Amino acid sequence: MWTVELGRTGVRLPNLALGTWNIRDPAAMRETIRAAVDLGVFHIDTAEIYPGAEEIVGEAIRGIRDRVFLTTKVAPQHATYAGTLAACEASLRRLGTDFIDLYLLHWLERDTPLEETLRAFRTLMEQGKVRFAGVSNFGVRELRRAQELFQPDALVNDQVEYNLTNRRIERDLLPYCREAGITVSGYSPFWEGRIPRRSPRWRGVERIAARYGRSPYSIVLNFLARQRDVILIFKTERVEHLRENVAALDFTLDPEDVAWMEANFAP
Ligand code: NAP
Repeated sequence: MWTVELGRTGVRLPNLALGTWNIRDPAAMRETIRAAVDLGVFHIDTAEIYPGAEEIVGEAIRGIRDRVFLTTKVAPQHATYAGTLAACEASLRRLGTDFIDLYLLHWLERDTPLEETLRAFRTLMEQGKVRFAGVSNFGVRELRRAQELFQPDALVNDQVEYNLTNRRIERDLLPYCREAGITVSGYSPFWEGRIPRRSPRWRGVERIAARYGRSPYSIVLNFLARQRDVILIFKTERVEHLRENVAALDFTLDPEDVAWMEANFAP
């Protein structure tokens, strides 16, 4: 694991973050969050719309808030000026904290009043309730629009899907964000757990994994982490999987394996 600068803020975050969508076992998730912080994966990603997640995160980080970087998200249906302020208050309450490190608009809908959302973000930053602001699921066009509405350098993050079968961001979003000083976070590296096990390409990943004595999940993370400035957000509620995912960045894939991955999972 290594660190990545968040935008041009000077704040450095680990290039692995722990997600909290679709929690099956709250106690296991709490234990995994605390283990993650101890292992240096101190960036926890959640959202107001993840059922029960903000409360579970809040319980998990009680007493260790100062060691955690918290990202949460306002849903577009709440994203008016007043709605965003209210959503933030509710998230703060559920998280049991008085500030959010990074607050994102979860996605953009046709009728999302983006200007209002960003104005609310600015107010929340002035009030000290939010440290940094960003967006999620924005393409280059939407990002440009948001930057025009906000101070250009105040949007520090775009959180988007990134996995072996969706590497589109490498073509356009990532180069744009690098130039603009916006950190990209990639979510669902394991396809939300829906691994394409029966595909011949996945069997190829399994064969590579076997040669390194690693799991195919480790090969996936190791390969995606070749974009060294992207924060990879995975979710697990098992400490052994967490450890495995952190260790997945401790080795280097041979050039022929990288070439095979590039050929079979082209961006
Ligand atoms: P993901 O990380 O792609 O996959 C999670 C699944 O992988 C879980 O079923 C987990 O099961 C399994 N897993 C993880 N590590 C493993 C390992 N080493 N071995 C075996 N299984 C492993 O899922 P995701 O939840 O879709 O994405 C990650 C996070 O990104 C989310 O939780 C959320 O915070 C964020 N996200 C954001 C958006 C957005 O719109 N901004 C959308 C989707 C996700 P176990 O618990 O059993 O390990």
